[in-house]
Amino acid sequence: MSNSTKYIFVTGGVTSSLGKGIISASLAKLLQARGYTVTIQKLDPYINIDPGTLNPYEHGECYVTNDGAETDLDLGHYERFLNVNTSQANNVTTGKIYQSVIDKERRGEFLGKTVQVIPHITDEIKERIQLLGKSGDFEIIITEIGGTVGDIESLPYIESVRQMMWEFPDDCLVIHLTLVPFLAAAGELKTKPTQHSVKSLLEVGVQPDILVCRTEHHLDSTIRKKIAQFCNVKPTAVIESIDAASIYEVPLLMQQEELDKVVLQKLDLPAIGDTELAEWKGFLEKLKNPKHIVKIGLVGKYIELKDSYKSIVESFIHAGAYNDCLVELEWIHSDGVTLANVEEKLAGLDGVLVAPGFGSRGIKGKINTIQYVRENNIPFLGICLGMQCAVVEFARNVIGWKDAHTTEIEKDCSHPVINIMADQLNVEDYGGTMRLGAYKCQLKADSKIGEAYNQEIISERHRHRYEFNNEYLAEFEKHGMMATGKNPETGLVEVVELPNHPWFVGTQFHPEYKSTVERPHPLFLAFVKAAIDNKRD
Ligand code: GLN
Repeated sequence: MSNSTKYIFVTGGVTSSLGKGIISASLAKLLQARGYTVTIQKLDPYINIDPGTLNPYEHGECYVTNDGAETDLDLGHYERFLNVNTSQANNVTTGKIYQSVIDKERRGEFLGKTVQVIPHITDEIKERIQLLGKSGDFEIIITEIGGTVGDIESLPYIESVRQMMWEFPDDCLVIHLTLVPFLAAAGELKTKPTQHSVKSLLEVGVQPDILVCRTEHHLDSTIRKKIAQFCNVKPTAVIESIDAASIYEVPLLMQQEELDKVVLQKLDLPAIGDTELAEWKGFLEKLKNPKHIVKIGLVGKYIELKDSYKSIVESFIHAGAYNDCLVELEWIHSDGVTLANVEEKLAGLDGVLVAPGFGSRGIKGKINTIQYVRENNIPFLGICLGMQCAVVEFARNVIGWKDAHTTEIEKDCSHPVINIMADQLNVEDYGGTMRLGAYKCQLKADSKIGEAYNQEIISERHRHRYEFNNEYLAEFEKHGMMATGKNPETGLVEVVELPNHPWFVGTQFHPEYKSTVERPHPLFLAFVKAAIDNKRD
């Protein structure tokens, strides 16, 4: 194996949404299976420091890493495919780059020089790209560049790639993703957009080594040769990326196209190791051949944009497959759930998940949903705000405190059963200041969650400012809502359950961030199993 770290850059052309994240993750999976240590990094050209303050409608889910970074949802795909944790260093934004350069300027580190995009911004970008390589933990770093070639915002990133290819010609490689559209009227696949996209890259000094062409129809050898000839690559470096039924098929499609082999050859690395992907194929086999079907309602307020709940959706795919079960998700807008229509809205569901969230919109609908599933013995999983709503609902309708609430919504309510965390009281900035990242939690063995994990101490990721108010815990437990998971150091309640219900669990943490193809999440496995066991015909 080579001594120096290899860098693979993935750029996109023609249009967004071609699946750069999935191609990056699939290639990484194939290289990982062969025994290489690989990680993936996302460079996002927007000026926000991170997506933590972005509305999910803008950007989909905000993913959270163990070390508390609020990141692009592509990092979720990287972890789900590779089964390896990502970190702060895996997501860089233009905001972070500029903030760091401006801080250095204020400290006088540029010694009176004029600070410019080239070299100061590009140096900072190159440093961030090489940070993971220098950690010594990885042989190959795949860097996905957000946006589309030609965007003004992407230019400094592409320029950094050009410089790195010039500085380390043997260690860098560029994969460019394009679209090969099918024109129905002409009955033909068209290569021109790909040609133009490669020309745009060439204009900024970057010759791609490999082209991955997204297409709805197979690319025959004539098309491949044509693209190769116009774009200065070998026909074997023209890789077809055909639409797949599931994102989890893509590693196998890329394997058939020999993407990994072409990459290794270009990087002068041996094409050794496992190409069987037995575990991955085992998962796909189960995914494609379910023995049961369950319907689970996902109640949230951002459901118009399904990417807002990406990790939850993928966790159900993993947990469903391992339970030999197809989980059909029914998307329910929390805004519209009233006590009058809740029965109709939840009709036929075998389980209900109430989603995380912020702010007052949709809260009433979430509480009405929880009252119905609690009273009708429907399996329930509440995540973060979903758990907090379960606590409020129980306080109001079982304990009898009609005015109970979370202080996020009603600051001065007389039964603040969910309250702002003490260390959040003086927080003024919104960005990066929540309780973020992994914390330990101690589980009661004799509980649904204890059974699910079969482990006493677990570690899960958090993203919140409010928490269960421990002043009321005794009263909750007296009435039958038990704290079955607590932070071992602070005593914060992280899990609540109703032992007198077939399966009712609320977690302050986000289990969905840790489910992967090869390590489906125990809580989702148990929830799907409960939905199968309690199936309503
Ligand atoms: N808004 C709640 C809090 O900040 C819940 C957050 C969440 O669901 N991620 O505590």
